[in-house]
Amino acid sequence: MRNNRKTLVITLSATFILMALLVVYTTRMIYNTSYSYIHELGDDKTSAISADLENYLENAKSVLWVAADTVDHMVANGATDEEIVDYITRESANTEQQFDESYTGLYGVIRGNYVDGVGWVPPEGYDPTARDWYKTAVEAGGETVIVSPYVDAQTGNVIISIVKMLSDYGNVLSLDLTLSGVQDIIEKTQLNGNGYSFILNNDGMVIAHPDRSLNGSFFDDTEEGKALFDKAISVGKGNFNMNVDGEDCTVFVDEVMSQWHLVIVTNTGVLFKAPRNIMFISALINLCVFALIAVFYFLGDRYEQKMNKRIDEMKEIEQKKDYEAKLLMLEKSAADSANKAKSDFLADMSHEIRTPINAVLGMNEMILHESDDEQILDYASSIKSAGNTLLSIINNILDFSKIEDGKMNLVPVEFSTAELISGLVNSISERARTKNLELIVEVDDTIPSKLFGDDVRISQIIMNLLTNAVKYTEKGSVTLSVRNKGAEDGNVSLRFDVADTGIGIRKEDFDKLFKSFERVEEKRNRHIEGTGLGISIVTRLLAMMDSKLDIKSEYGKGSTFGFDLSLKVVDSDPVGNYDDRKKTVSRGDEVSLSAPSARILVTDDNAMNLKVAGNLMKFFDIKPITCSSGRTTIDMFRNNSFDILFLDHMMPQMDGIETLKILKSEGLLGDTRVIALTANAVVGAREQYLNAGFDDYLSKPIMLGDLERILKTYLPESVVSVSESVQNDDSADASDTELTIGKAESIGLNVSAGVEFSGGDEEFYLEILTDYANDAEEKCNALSKYMKAKDWKNYKILVHSIKSASKTVGASYISEEARKLEEASAREDEEYVVANHNALISDYRTLAGRILG
Ligand code: ADP
Repeated sequence: MRNNRKTLVITLSATFILMALLVVYTTRMIYNTSYSYIHELGDDKTSAISADLENYLENAKSVLWVAADTVDHMVANGATDEEIVDYITRESANTEQQFDESYTGLYGVIRGNYVDGVGWVPPEGYDPTARDWYKTAVEAGGETVIVSPYVDAQTGNVIISIVKMLSDYGNVLSLDLTLSGVQDIIEKTQLNGNGYSFILNNDGMVIAHPDRSLNGSFFDDTEEGKALFDKAISVGKGNFNMNVDGEDCTVFVDEVMSQWHLVIVTNTGVLFKAPRNIMFISALINLCVFALIAVFYFLGDRYEQKMNKRIDEMKEIEQKKDYEAKLLMLEKSAADSANKAKSDFLADMSHEIRTPINAVLGMNEMILHESDDEQILDYASSIKSAGNTLLSIINNILDFSKIEDGKMNLVPVEFSTAELISGLVNSISERARTKNLELIVEVDDTIPSKLFGDDVRISQIIMNLLTNAVKYTEKGSVTLSVRNKGAEDGNVSLRFDVADTGIGIRKEDFDKLFKSFERVEEKRNRHIEGTGLGISIVTRLLAMMDSKLDIKSEYGKGSTFGFDLSLKVVDSDPVGNYDDRKKTVSRGDEVSLSAPSARILVTDDNAMNLKVAGNLMKFFDIKPITCSSGRTTIDMFRNNSFDILFLDHMMPQMDGIETLKILKSEGLLGDTRVIALTANAVVGAREQYLNAGFDDYLSKPIMLGDLERILKTYLPESVVSVSESVQNDDSADASDTELTIGKAESIGLNVSAGVEFSGGDEEFYLEILTDYANDAEEKCNALSKYMKAKDWKNYKILVHSIKSASKTVGASYISEEARKLEEASAREDEEYVVANHNALISDYRTLAGRILG
């Protein structure tokens, strides 16, 4: 800012100096031009006037010369004086007529006598030869000359005589002039209306002056007059400056016939008034121009300053934006690395948390199968349920973090539509039953039986929706419907909907659904387990499949979550009636497996995990060999062969993947199938293990069902034997009336647990199952009686026995209902018992009817 001021001052000063120089220069130029012009003008004027005067006098000279010549001839020819007087009288009259009145007549001296053309008679004693005019003529010889003037007493006019001596010496002719013409010229002569003029003769006598009183006087009488006269004489023709009558004057002078001096005196100030005015106006214009320039500069400077300020502001804004962008980038990279750290942390936690849970749940599974103490079994079942919930929460968090990190890839494979649906139904039916909810499954018959897609992720999506539907519904039903919307170009468009009659969602809460870790109506739902991740995972997975979630919900009445999916058709045979299929599938698939001759090696660095695995194998009559490191595993393979190797991934020194590599590279594997054991079962784990060369993977904690699936899939048929019920399974009709293991399973009982509780004896299990069903009516009536009588003590005892019996036969959802009623009756919570009693009675009776029916 200060710099700008300085620049402005310097620029303006420089401009001012330049303009001042310009003014001085132009002024001088104007002055010089005007000066010389005015002087030229003055000089021209004096020249013109002196020429006029010379003409005037030349005329007079000519007149005299002609007359003198004539008289000269007359004298020579002997003309008499009278004849000569006559002639000059006539000539005087002619001259006066011909010219003007200023010619006053001819006169002279002829043969010693005075002669006069106008009849003037000289006074007595008048000697013409003594007069100036006569003497001057004689002195001039034959030249025509002007005699010094004198002032006419009457007119005040100066009178001059022009004289010429004739050839006969002694004769002189003279002509008088009044000079009134000269006086007129002088009185009119000024320079541009400025000043005055006069004529002096060589003696300094005033010939003509506007002030007539001065005519005839001598100019050099006064000092100033003398100085002026001297200067005029010395200059001759030209001009000079002089103080005249106290004023600065410019004086122009010229000679007239070498006898007179024409003088024009002008006031210098007046003379140069016009150029001075021009100079003044020019300076004024320059000043105005300078002022304008200064104003423009100033305004320009202000505008520039304003613009500079704006530019500075804009720069500042730009810099701020840059800074913010950099900050954002830094924040983003910080967030990215924080996110990465979070994912790494979660991945690590996965292993760290899953390993102890594996141990807890594994041991718990053993308690459940080995303990006879009902109380202990009760505790163990609670541990199992809580442990499974914890696992599913961890799985959700891990899946979500994996998806967020972009590490999740879809792995499309061929899959059976019916298997996908029944897998989902099997997984959710138990929970729905526990909550006494009706599970309705509606599947279009026309859906192709084999499709191509990521069945694991599709299942995960639908399972999340089904789990929510069951979680947020207290009574009524949960419906899974799969509709065929039509096929095109080898693809089928399916519509999946999960509807419930639950609590519903307010419209204004819809947005919250999609926000990770955010739950709707937290207060109301706080007793329902959840992380707020389920829907987020669903929407993200659907986005990966080019689909999106539609939500319809009526608060208090229920919700429907649905989506469309386009999948490639592998086998377009229709899937057929789902209910019919369900029977066949469940009968065919649910096999109880025994493989005592199977050769199994389990490798894990954690002794507890080895123990759990070993115990679970017992269910299949398998005695596995265990190993605690990759190195010993390789050694084992050098001398032995195995049907399946269960190989832990995370091990110190040599991990599972390295071990597998060596086994393969050394050709030690043979026909052995290798299954990865991992606690790190996040999204993408399956692809990772398949890529690493494993045949499959088993997530820790190992679930009996999963283990069975693996054994069934990978053990050679020769070492597997299946239970009789399966072999007889084809006799579908029998199962409808006769109670068989298959029938018990189709009813939804946990048969394996029941058989286990029956000491592994299926016959015995079926026997106690029949008793259980037969007792139903009696027990239900008695229980209702106790409730009416508010006999809480007996109610508690009876409901406890129903709980234990239900658990023993594998009716866990009834057992659970009974457990809650037992607790309620123990604390005499009448309200709870009244509200839930009927559900238990109805479930027990329905189940009994199905067992016996
Ligand atoms: P959460 O683990 O809490 O169930 P989700 O992401 O699966 O998380 O669901 C987010 C929220 O959406 C839930 O907390 C619940 O309030 C609501 N919600 C989800 N499904 C349903 C449903 N079927 N009925 C009512 N509310 C639901």
